[in-house]
Amino acid sequence: MFSKALLDRNGRKIEYREETLTGIRCRICPSREERGLNDLRIPEALEINKSCPFCPENIEIDTPCFENGERIHVGETTTFPNIYPFGENHIVTVITKEHCPHEITENQILDSLKGQFLGLKEKKGFASINWNYLSSAGASMIHPHLQGFSDGIPTYLTSLYINRSKEYFDRSGSNYWLSVTESEKESDRYLFGDEITWCANPVPIGEKEIRGYLPFCSFNDFEEFIPEIAGGIRRVMEIYKNAGNHALNMAIRFGKDEHEMYFRAFVSMIARINPNPESISDSAFMERLHFEPVVMTVPEDLKKINSRSQKY
Ligand SMILES: [Zn+2]
Repeated sequence: MFSKALLDRNGRKIEYREETLTGIRCRICPSREERGLNDLRIPEALEINKSCPFCPENIEIDTPCFENGERIHVGETTTFPNIYPFGENHIVTVITKEHCPHEITENQILDSLKGQFLGLKEKKGFASINWNYLSSAGASMIHPHLQGFSDGIPTYLTSLYINRSKEYFDRSGSNYWLSVTESEKESDRYLFGDEITWCANPVPIGEKEIRGYLPFCSFNDFEEFIPEIAGGIRRVMEIYKNAGNHALNMAIRFGKDEHEMYFRAFVSMIARINPNPESISDSAFMERLHFEPVVMTVPEDLKKINSRSQKY
């Protein structure tokens, strides 16, 4: 499923890896962690914004409604159209009533995913559910929120995976995702889960990337798996916390009914550098312009962190 090559420069190891299906490449450079850029910095350092439109006293006034004149409420979560969309049917789900919570619970994640499902289920586009958690992960609002959209065309990476999966199926007669789930389950990157398998991605597209391989393709089949997906996301957050990362990005990308033969939806989560006064970002030219992420953590090492993260 991937190839690798190792380079040693004065004892500093650089590992090049390439995903066979897509040709996506990354470089793993554990010694870069010695720079100590991700010292523990947590959200308390962030300024509380009294005029936050996502806080309970403002949300029903400052956020827009859907065409039916309503917002979607599930548990303590609220879902509404994004005022500044960058996609079709772009919606926001505010996850917590609390502006800057110390913990986000499995139930809050579950209710947020339900809110996203309800907000997007009538749409016929390519759906994805996404999360920028904390400012250093690109969140413009500190108040935790998911963003989903359902676009006429898939994003670049989703279309790459769908197209290459079709080519793989045409060549081999089998579904790439079933093969990859089986082989990753047996690998030293397997972390947890059975029906939904959570594994460190061997060719990470970001720091400590973990993928949840979902047993369905289409957004139409998402609803029944929401509780289990929410549990997995919460557990990955715990793994990141144990590794010293609070900030993260997440994307759940879905196919459509007609891709069922050769594609499967999957969750992709990456850890991000913690919010810090210097505002150093861990996304730079290699990540954004060469689409060849430089990460520090060897994917197989996430197994050790996972074994320390059983309880939360
Ligand atoms: Zn707020």
